[in-house]
Amino acid sequence: MKASATIVCLLAFVCATIRPAPAHADPLDGPTLLATVAGDLQAYWTATLVTRVPSYQGPRSIVSYSSRIDTPCGRATMHNADYCQTDDTIYLDATWIDPLLANDDYTPVAILAHEWGHEVQNELGDYDRSSEHPYLRALELQADCYAGLFLRSEHDQNRLDDTAVTEARRFFLSAGDPSPKTRSHGTGPQRLGWFNAGYRTASVDVCADVFRKEHAMPRIPDQ
Ligand SMILES: [Zn+2]
Repeated sequence: MKASATIVCLLAFVCATIRPAPAHADPLDGPTLLATVAGDLQAYWTATLVTRVPSYQGPRSIVSYSSRIDTPCGRATMHNADYCQTDDTIYLDATWIDPLLANDDYTPVAILAHEWGHEVQNELGDYDRSSEHPYLRALELQADCYAGLFLRSEHDQNRLDDTAVTEARRFFLSAGDPSPKTRSHGTGPQRLGWFNAGYRTASVDVCADVFRKEHAMPRIPDQ
């Protein structure tokens, strides 16, 4: 890994800290917030998957980068976040994430929760990111649904306030495919719809419905 990458080992943070007050009431600096959220994600998914994945591990690490770096899954691009199955690592562009957090914008919580959702898919045996995968879009929408589950849990425990949830909804609505024909991540309304499905129901089984409801429209390969 190049020097520009800051490696944040999750294990040191798991369940180590719990925010004493709702977000926005007592803002935390970016790295502290993400480390705290990572601990919350680890605890949430460990509990949620206790019967399906009794030895749930969580991602091996989270890497924050500020210039292009090479990963086992290819070059990490700027203004992006990604989960790499090969090294079980989440990659976050700090030049994108940090300014948001510095402005008290909690959108990165939703971004991290989405990428963590891919790691959950991996441990469940559902993850296949190959470009030929016909259900790529369903995988992305399911990760949005998983993000909804987690943010609901955080909100219920007063760890995130209404504003943070609104910021998450705004992000998913704005981060959709430019056209339904793209079928990469789903359109903005689709992404928001599945985030809301997870958030409203707090049911992991609802997120399983993504494949049944979305798989009929396989991804069109890039031209
Ligand atoms: Zn994704």
